Amino acid sequence: MRPDEAWESVLGELELSMERGSFLTWLRSARLLAYEDGQFIVAVPNGYAKQWIEQRKLAEIRRMLSARMGRTVDVKLVVMASNATAAHTQTPSPLIPSGQAAASSVASDGLLPRYTFEAFVVGPGNQVAYAAARSVADRPGQSYNPLFLYGGSGLGKTHLLHAIGNFVKQRGLVCRYVNSETFSNELIAAIRTQSQEAFRSKYRLVDVLLLDDVQFIAGKEFIQEELFHTFNTLHSANKQIVLTSDRAPRMMVTLEERLRSRFEWGLMADISPPDLETRMAILQHKAAQMGRELPMEVVEFVARQVQSNVRELEGALTRLLATAEITGRPISVQLARDALSDLTGRRVDITPSQVIEAVAAYYNISVAEMVSPSRNKELVQPRQVAMYLLRQETDASLPEIGALLGGRDHTTVLHGVDRIRARLEVEEQLRRDIMHIRERLYLRAS
Ligand code: ADP
Ligand code: MG
Repeated sequence: MRPDEAWESVLGELELSMERGSFLTWLRSARLLAYEDGQFIVAVPNGYAKQWIEQRKLAEIRRMLSARMGRTVDVKLVVMASNATAAHTQTPSPLIPSGQAAASSVASDGLLPRYTFEAFVVGPGNQVAYAAARSVADRPGQSYNPLFLYGGSGLGKTHLLHAIGNFVKQRGLVCRYVNSETFSNELIAAIRTQSQEAFRSKYRLVDVLLLDDVQFIAGKEFIQEELFHTFNTLHSANKQIVLTSDRAPRMMVTLEERLRSRFEWGLMADISPPDLETRMAILQHKAAQMGRELPMEVVEFVARQVQSNVRELEGALTRLLATAEITGRPISVQLARDALSDLTGRRVDITPSQVIEAVAAYYNISVAEMVSPSRNKELVQPRQVAMYLLRQETDASLPEIGALLGGRDHTTVLHGVDRIRARLEVEEQLRRDIMHIRERLYLRAS
């Protein structure tokens, strides 16, 4: 297949398989710019579309393109806000800084200015960590040393770390933020270029060291060794150390005992997921930062959809605002429902027998006929459609699908799925059939 044909056919398949609103919002205006050396370069109209596709669809798109090209290919998304790519949609004005703009505002001390205490919403799950962070920022080296913050992903650990840094920096103290992975990489580079002295002064001649995601150093002995000495130097000079991790020190199994005990010297504070009120407050706060106000019912609706991760909560908000902007619709619960449909309309609810029943009903045959050994032409197509949809809509494996459809071999299933996939490229009627079956399936399940 030619690259442009492959791209068009992948878009076609995505249009069928995705929720309509999501497809129109995020993928319809994606354009193939070039194909070079196994790489598809695809233009999208804005940073939201880029982020959305990268987070949710890129792996699938890569797989689908590779299958069509008969080789492993890569996909690169570029933002191109020109008329050429935005033929169907208006390009929204930026609501928040893109990742790149944010990254370029990082100062050499590694601090991100927008992560401040003022921008942090306090609730029952994070108030101890917040209070400890404030206390440390007020009196570095004199309250809790070290401060060890831990908790799940996207709960504000990195934010608090930067907030401490930004606060003490204003008071003229020297502060350094570093992720543990960067710390490790820099150390390795320093060893290679024999510049360990420069590395050491960078991390030891500071008033406050902020070390993020320290779980990365688990199992890396020479990095733990270096950190051990960094820690001792700073601590004995009453310099403040703040660490974060996704788990408590005692849960870091491959951490040297001497480091573990040091991590536990000061205060350990965990952060747990925000409750509903806090999630609502965070959404309101973020919306206000972007100069937007959301109706209360919309705030509550979104806060109920995303429960355990503030980063995802922010993602949901960005998506909601971008959808409103792109479609020109007012912000309402209905819009939120559409924009966040893949969070709300959970696919896991569809069972294999629902798929088989829906296909049988659509083609007016019985389930018994569907699973019978007969290879009558009237039965083969519905059966292959069932194979295709079982593959797409459920987690059933090829052998399981074979078993569900009357004990067929998995290679038969594979053949059936491929056959439908190939026909979908050219047969408008079949596309429509499958769209209708999907609609019924999800209408009934919801
Ligand atoms: P972690 O480091 O724990 O994985 P982050 O600090 O990176 O999480 O937080 C993820 C995102 O959520 C950041 O954009 C951060 O600003 C935001 N966030 C997390 N907790 C809060 C909170 N309590 N108030 C405001 N924003 C928050
Ligand atoms: Mg983090």
